[in-house]
Amino acid sequence: MRTAMIISPHADDAAIFCGGTLARFVCDGWRVVLVRVTDDRYDSVGASIDETIARNAEELAQAAAILGVDEVVNLGFETDRLADTPETEIRERIVYMFRKFRPHTVFSFDPTDLGEDNQDHVRVAQATAEAFWVSCFDKHYPEHFNEGLEPFTPAERWFFSRGAPGANFVMEITETMPQKIGAVMAHQTMLRNVLNQYRLQLRTAGRRVAMVDDAIAGGDLRQLVEMFIGGQAQAVAQAAEYPEGRFAEAYRRERFGDLDVLFEQLSQPIE
Ligand SMILES: [Zn+2]
Repeated sequence: MRTAMIISPHADDAAIFCGGTLARFVCDGWRVVLVRVTDDRYDSVGASIDETIARNAEELAQAAAILGVDEVVNLGFETDRLADTPETEIRERIVYMFRKFRPHTVFSFDPTDLGEDNQDHVRVAQATAEAFWVSCFDKHYPEHFNEGLEPFTPAERWFFSRGAPGANFVMEITETMPQKIGAVMAHQTMLRNVLNQYRLQLRTAGRRVAMVDDAIAGGDLRQLVEMFIGGQAQAVAQAAEYPEGRFAEAYRRERFGDLDVLFEQLSQPIE
Protein backbone atom coordinates (compact mmCIF):
# COMPACT_ATOMS: atom_id res chain seq x y z
CA MET A 1 0.00 0.00 0.00
CA ARG A 2 1.35 3.41 -0.96
CA THR A 3 1.37 6.32 1.47
CA ALA A 4 0.60 9.97 0.74
CA MET A 5 1.53 12.64 3.27
CA ILE A 6 0.24 16.17 3.58
CA ILE A 7 2.34 18.70 5.49
CA SER A 8 -0.33 21.12 6.69
CA PRO A 9 0.90 24.23 8.56
CA HIS A 10 -2.55 24.71 10.11
CA ALA A 11 -5.50 22.41 10.72
CA ASP A 12 -7.63 23.73 7.85
CA ASP A 13 -5.00 23.94 5.06
CA ALA A 14 -5.28 20.26 4.12
CA ALA A 15 -9.04 20.35 3.48
CA ILE A 16 -8.99 23.76 1.79
CA PHE A 17 -6.06 23.21 -0.58
CA CYS A 18 -6.13 19.49 -1.36
CA GLY A 19 -9.07 17.87 0.47
CA GLY A 20 -10.66 16.55 -2.73
CA THR A 21 -7.39 15.02 -3.93
CA LEU A 22 -6.61 13.39 -0.57
CA ALA A 23 -10.08 11.80 -0.53
CA ARG A 24 -9.44 10.51 -4.05
CA PHE A 25 -6.13 8.95 -2.96
CA VAL A 26 -8.01 7.24 -0.11
CA CYS A 27 -10.59 5.89 -2.63
CA ASP A 28 -7.71 4.55 -4.69
CA GLY A 29 -6.44 2.56 -1.67
CA TRP A 30 -3.65 4.84 -0.46
CA ARG A 31 -2.85 5.38 3.21
CA VAL A 32 -2.96 9.13 3.91
CA VAL A 33 -1.02 10.70 6.80
CA LEU A 34 -1.75 14.31 7.76
CA VAL A 35 1.07 16.16 9.53
CA ARG A 36 -0.17 19.35 11.17
CA VAL A 37 2.72 21.62 12.07
CA THR A 38 1.18 24.20 14.44
CA ASP A 39 -1.38 24.08 17.27
CA ASP A 40 -3.67 26.85 15.89
CA ARG A 41 -3.87 28.32 19.38
CA TYR A 42 -4.80 31.81 18.19
CA ASP A 43 -7.31 30.80 15.53
CA SER A 44 -10.76 31.53 16.96
CA VAL A 45 -12.95 34.50 17.83
CA GLY A 46 -13.64 35.06 21.53
CA ALA A 47 -12.52 31.66 22.89
CA SER A 48 -9.62 31.21 25.33
CA ILE A 49 -6.32 29.80 24.05
CA ASP A 50 -6.88 26.42 25.75
CA GLU A 51 -10.39 26.20 24.34
CA THR A 52 -9.11 27.20 20.89
CA ILE A 53 -6.43 24.51 20.90
CA ALA A 54 -8.96 21.87 21.98
CA ARG A 55 -11.65 22.89 19.48
CA ASN A 56 -9.31 23.10 16.51
CA ALA A 57 -7.79 19.70 17.30
CA GLU A 58 -11.26 18.16 17.60
CA GLU A 59 -12.45 19.77 14.36
CA LEU A 60 -9.35 18.54 12.53
CA ALA A 61 -10.08 15.01 13.76
CA GLN A 62 -13.59 15.34 12.27
CA ALA A 63 -12.28 16.74 8.97
CA ALA A 64 -9.65 14.00 8.70
CA ALA A 65 -12.30 11.32 9.31
CA ILE A 66 -14.48 12.80 6.53
CA LEU A 67 -11.55 12.68 4.08
CA GLY A 68 -10.58 9.14 5.16
CA VAL A 69 -7.17 10.18 6.51
CA ASP A 70 -5.57 7.27 8.39
CA GLU A 71 -3.42 9.19 10.80
CA VAL A 72 -3.05 12.76 12.06
CA VAL A 73 0.30 13.75 13.57
CA ASN A 74 0.46 17.04 15.51
CA LEU A 75 3.92 18.61 15.65
CA GLY A 76 2.65 21.25 18.10
CA PHE A 77 4.62 24.35 17.04
CA GLU A 78 3.11 27.67 18.17
CA THR A 79 0.89 28.98 15.39
CA ASP A 80 1.60 32.29 13.62
CA ARG A 81 5.14 32.27 15.07
CA LEU A 82 7.00 29.97 12.66
CA ALA A 83 8.85 33.00 11.31
CA ASP A 84 10.60 33.06 14.72
CA THR A 85 11.31 29.32 14.69
CA PRO A 86 14.56 28.11 13.08
CA GLU A 87 13.73 26.57 9.72
CA THR A 88 16.09 23.68 10.50
CA GLU A 89 14.03 22.81 13.60
CA ILE A 90 10.86 22.43 11.50
CA ARG A 91 12.88 20.62 8.81
CA GLU A 92 14.15 18.03 11.30
CA ARG A 93 10.59 17.11 12.30
CA ILE A 94 9.55 16.77 8.63
CA VAL A 95 12.61 14.64 7.82
CA TYR A 96 11.61 12.43 10.75
CA MET A 97 8.06 12.14 9.36
CA PHE A 98 9.42 11.16 5.92
CA ARG A 99 11.71 8.51 7.41
CA LYS A 100 9.02 7.17 9.73
CA PHE A 101 6.01 6.99 7.35
CA ARG A 102 7.94 6.63 4.05
CA PRO A 103 5.42 8.49 1.85
CA HIS A 104 5.52 7.96 -1.93
CA THR A 105 3.86 11.36 -2.52
CA VAL A 106 3.96 14.50 -0.38
CA PHE A 107 1.57 17.45 -0.57
CA SER A 108 2.85 20.84 0.58
CA PHE A 109 2.55 24.59 0.08
CA ASP A 110 4.71 25.72 -2.80
CA PRO A 111 8.01 27.31 -1.69
CA THR A 112 8.18 29.20 -5.03
CA ASP A 113 4.84 30.99 -4.48
CA LEU A 114 5.89 34.53 -3.65
CA GLY A 115 2.30 35.75 -3.27
CA GLU A 116 1.90 34.09 0.12
CA ASP A 117 1.32 36.48 3.04
CA ASN A 118 1.26 33.82 5.77
CA GLN A 119 4.75 33.21 7.15
CA ASP A 120 3.74 29.83 8.63
CA HIS A 121 2.89 28.71 5.08
CA VAL A 122 6.20 30.06 3.75
CA ARG A 123 8.31 28.47 6.50
CA VAL A 124 6.65 25.05 6.23
CA ALA A 125 6.94 25.12 2.42
CA GLN A 126 10.68 25.90 2.67
CA ALA A 127 11.33 23.33 5.40
CA THR A 128 9.45 20.65 3.43
CA ALA A 129 11.31 21.45 0.21
CA GLU A 130 14.63 21.09 2.03
CA ALA A 131 13.50 17.94 3.83
CA PHE A 132 13.18 16.17 0.44
CA TRP A 133 16.96 16.12 -0.01
CA VAL A 134 18.14 16.37 3.60
CA SER A 135 16.26 13.15 4.47
CA CYS A 136 18.50 11.25 2.00
CA PHE A 137 21.70 12.14 3.88
CA ASP A 138 23.04 9.51 6.27
CA LYS A 139 24.82 12.23 8.27
CA HIS A 140 21.75 14.43 8.82
CA TYR A 141 19.95 13.62 12.08
CA PRO A 142 21.67 10.23 12.56
CA GLU A 143 19.79 9.92 15.87
CA HIS A 144 16.75 8.92 13.77
CA PHE A 145 18.60 5.75 12.73
CA ASN A 146 18.80 4.56 16.36
CA GLU A 147 15.07 3.89 16.04
CA GLY A 148 15.61 1.68 13.03
CA LEU A 149 14.76 4.41 10.48
CA GLU A 150 16.74 4.81 7.25
CA PRO A 151 17.61 7.57 4.78
CA PHE A 152 14.54 7.97 2.58
CA THR A 153 12.90 10.48 0.24
CA PRO A 154 9.47 10.61 -1.41
CA ALA A 155 9.09 10.09 -5.17
CA GLU A 156 6.62 12.89 -5.93
CA ARG A 157 5.90 16.38 -4.60
CA TRP A 158 2.54 17.98 -5.21
CA PHE A 159 2.82 21.68 -4.38
CA PHE A 160 -0.30 23.78 -3.89
CA SER A 161 -0.66 27.51 -3.35
CA ARG A 162 -3.19 30.32 -3.44
CA GLY A 163 -4.13 30.78 -7.07
CA ALA A 164 -1.51 28.13 -8.01
CA PRO A 165 0.57 30.38 -10.32
CA GLY A 166 3.03 27.64 -11.40
CA ALA A 167 0.49 24.81 -11.66
CA ASN A 168 1.28 22.08 -14.20
CA PHE A 169 -1.25 19.45 -13.13
CA VAL A 170 -4.98 19.46 -12.44
CA MET A 171 -6.75 16.76 -10.43
CA GLU A 172 -10.47 16.36 -11.01
CA ILE A 173 -12.27 16.05 -7.66
CA THR A 174 -15.94 16.08 -8.71
CA GLU A 175 -16.66 12.76 -6.97
CA THR A 176 -14.99 13.73 -3.71
CA MET A 177 -16.19 17.36 -3.69
CA PRO A 178 -18.89 16.60 -1.05
CA GLN A 179 -16.14 15.25 1.23
CA LYS A 180 -13.99 18.33 0.66
CA ILE A 181 -16.93 20.61 1.52
CA GLY A 182 -17.72 18.51 4.61
CA ALA A 183 -14.09 18.58 5.76
CA VAL A 184 -13.78 22.34 5.29
CA MET A 185 -17.07 22.82 7.17
CA ALA A 186 -15.76 20.76 10.08
CA HIS A 187 -13.36 23.66 10.80
CA GLN A 188 -16.16 25.79 12.29
CA THR A 189 -13.87 27.65 14.70
CA MET A 190 -11.24 28.61 12.11
CA LEU A 191 -13.84 29.43 9.45
CA ARG A 192 -15.60 31.86 11.78
CA ASN A 193 -12.25 33.57 12.42
CA VAL A 194 -11.65 33.90 8.66
CA LEU A 195 -15.14 35.35 8.25
CA ASN A 196 -14.50 37.75 11.12
CA GLN A 197 -11.48 39.10 9.23
CA TYR A 198 -13.72 39.81 6.23
CA ARG A 199 -16.34 41.32 8.54
CA LEU A 200 -13.78 43.76 9.98
CA GLN A 201 -12.44 44.66 6.55
CA LEU A 202 -15.96 45.21 5.25
CA ARG A 203 -16.74 47.34 8.31
CA THR A 204 -13.74 49.56 7.59
CA ALA A 205 -15.08 49.96 4.07
CA GLY A 206 -18.46 50.91 5.54
CA ARG A 207 -20.15 47.68 4.35
CA ARG A 208 -21.59 44.48 5.80
CA VAL A 209 -22.68 41.13 4.38
CA ALA A 210 -25.64 39.72 6.33
CA MET A 211 -24.72 36.11 5.48
CA VAL A 212 -21.23 36.61 6.93
CA ASP A 213 -22.57 38.25 10.11
CA ASP A 214 -25.07 35.40 10.58
CA ALA A 215 -22.41 32.72 10.09
CA ILE A 216 -20.06 34.34 12.64
CA ALA A 217 -22.94 34.51 15.13
CA GLY A 218 -23.32 30.73 14.91
CA GLY A 219 -25.41 30.37 11.74
CA ASP A 220 -24.93 27.69 9.08
CA LEU A 221 -21.65 27.86 7.18
CA ARG A 222 -22.62 25.57 4.30
CA GLN A 223 -23.82 28.22 1.87
CA LEU A 224 -20.67 30.31 2.27
CA VAL A 225 -18.34 27.30 2.06
CA GLU A 226 -20.10 26.09 -1.09
CA MET A 227 -19.80 29.56 -2.61
CA PHE A 228 -16.13 30.14 -1.72
CA ILE A 229 -14.60 26.66 -1.81
CA GLY A 230 -16.98 25.26 -4.44
CA GLY A 231 -16.52 28.35 -6.61
CA GLN A 232 -12.75 28.05 -6.42
CA ALA A 233 -12.72 24.34 -7.37
CA GLN A 234 -15.15 25.07 -10.19
CA ALA A 235 -12.91 27.85 -11.54
CA VAL A 236 -9.90 25.48 -11.56
CA ALA A 237 -11.96 22.89 -13.50
CA GLN A 238 -13.21 25.51 -15.96
CA ALA A 239 -9.69 26.85 -16.59
CA ALA A 240 -8.63 23.27 -17.38
CA GLU A 241 -11.60 23.01 -19.82
CA TYR A 242 -13.54 20.38 -17.93
CA PRO A 243 -17.27 20.30 -18.77
CA GLU A 244 -19.75 22.34 -16.72
CA GLY A 245 -20.41 21.12 -13.18
CA ARG A 246 -16.96 19.62 -12.56
CA PHE A 247 -14.54 20.47 -9.77
CA ALA A 248 -10.74 20.30 -9.62
CA GLU A 249 -7.63 21.17 -7.60
CA ALA A 250 -4.37 22.45 -9.16
CA TYR A 251 -0.77 21.55 -8.31
CA ARG A 252 2.80 22.12 -9.38
CA ARG A 253 3.78 18.47 -9.51
CA GLU A 254 7.42 17.51 -9.43
CA ARG A 255 9.22 14.20 -9.67
CA PHE A 256 12.88 14.19 -10.75
CA GLY A 257 13.00 17.75 -12.10
CA ASP A 258 15.27 18.04 -15.15
CA LEU A 259 15.97 14.30 -15.05
CA ASP A 260 12.33 13.22 -15.56
CA VAL A 261 12.70 12.24 -19.21
CA LEU A 262 16.09 10.61 -18.76
CA PHE A 263 14.94 8.52 -15.80
CA GLU A 264 11.80 7.53 -17.70
CA GLN A 265 14.07 6.06 -20.41
CA LEU A 266 16.71 4.52 -18.12
CA SER A 267 14.69 3.20 -15.21
CA GLN A 268 13.38 -0.30 -14.71
CA PRO A 269 11.20 -1.76 -11.94
CA ILE A 270 12.93 -2.89 -8.76
CA GLU A 271 12.31 -6.62 -8.23
ZN1 LIG B 1 -2.86 27.94 6.93
